[in-house]
Amino acid sequence: MIVVLKHGIKKEEVDELATHLKSLGVGIHESFGENTAILGLVGDTSGIDAESLRANHLVERVMRVQEPYKMANRKFHPDDTLVHIPTAEGPDVVFGAPNFTIIAGPCSVESRDQLTGIARAVKLSGARMLRGGAFKPRTSPYSFQGMGCEGIDLLLEAKRATGLPIVTELMSVKQLELFDNVDIIQIGARNMQNFDLLKELGHCGKPILLKRGLANTAKELLMSAEYIMAGGNENIILCERGIRSFDNFTRNVLDLSVVPFLKRETHLPVIVDPSHATGCAWMVEPMAKAALAAGADGIIVEVHNNPERALCDGEQSITPAQFEALMKKLRKYAAIEDKDL
Ligand code: PEP
Ligand code: MN
Repeated sequence: MIVVLKHGIKKEEVDELATHLKSLGVGIHESFGENTAILGLVGDTSGIDAESLRANHLVERVMRVQEPYKMANRKFHPDDTLVHIPTAEGPDVVFGAPNFTIIAGPCSVESRDQLTGIARAVKLSGARMLRGGAFKPRTSPYSFQGMGCEGIDLLLEAKRATGLPIVTELMSVKQLELFDNVDIIQIGARNMQNFDLLKELGHCGKPILLKRGLANTAKELLMSAEYIMAGGNENIILCERGIRSFDNFTRNVLDLSVVPFLKRETHLPVIVDPSHATGCAWMVEPMAKAALAAGADGIIVEVHNNPERALCDGEQSITPAQFEALMKKLRKYAAIEDKDL
């Protein structure tokens, strides 16, 4: 249920109403826009009488929210949420309009030289964050499983060397303590509905990059975000990374129309992963440009210094030189879309 308050009412009056509603057993999500204040009611609202709430002199409008995602819903929070990532020196990295924020790096951390070399190169070209998997969710148990703790250490070294904040995937609650100095925790497609993990992230105090599952609907993605938000963590970035379909000329099918859909349904930032979506390096550039045009808030791209030798996802990895060319193109597109890159 959403309670839109009248213009110009005082903060104390809002607090008083919120306290009263809380005493009726619901959670309250307050959102203050430029002109309006909104109270989002979460939990079991069946005991709340909308009619008597409408009669309250502070209340402009009362609406029941049909969608099962409440806190992630744009109706609860009409302004865009901006996810801020502090950096050691300089301004925060920000996800959300008007920024088009670029995350780049290898699929997997493979060695110090590999990671730091790629990190330096992508930073020079304009990437704002470094990606790299230390714990890898591989389809085959015989494939490279990632460097584990050592991989996290190398990411932290690359962060110190370049100043780029880092994002890396968490697969199990057991690894959480290793992620203390990781800037964004990635929840991969295969864990999008690992509800125990999502609940834990609700109180981990870190921004989350939540990737859409291989065969999950957009609404299921929003419900997974809701799990994290219900636990108290509202710093979530959603990521479209392609879904399964019948055609296999690409690794997955990039669902670009989900971008405007999500931007309308939720206030959370939305980015696109053109690397996993297509599975092939030459398609990364057109799909990255398309993501920008579709209204995404950024991209996450796999970059490898030697894709032919990569231990994971070489086929879809672009080289630092190709990344540099991509950034040049994206800057032109960003200008047309009034985005900051
Ligand atoms: C990744 O980003 O390294 C990854 C494994 O992605 P996804 O979960 O989207 O497959
Ligand atoms: Mn990968």
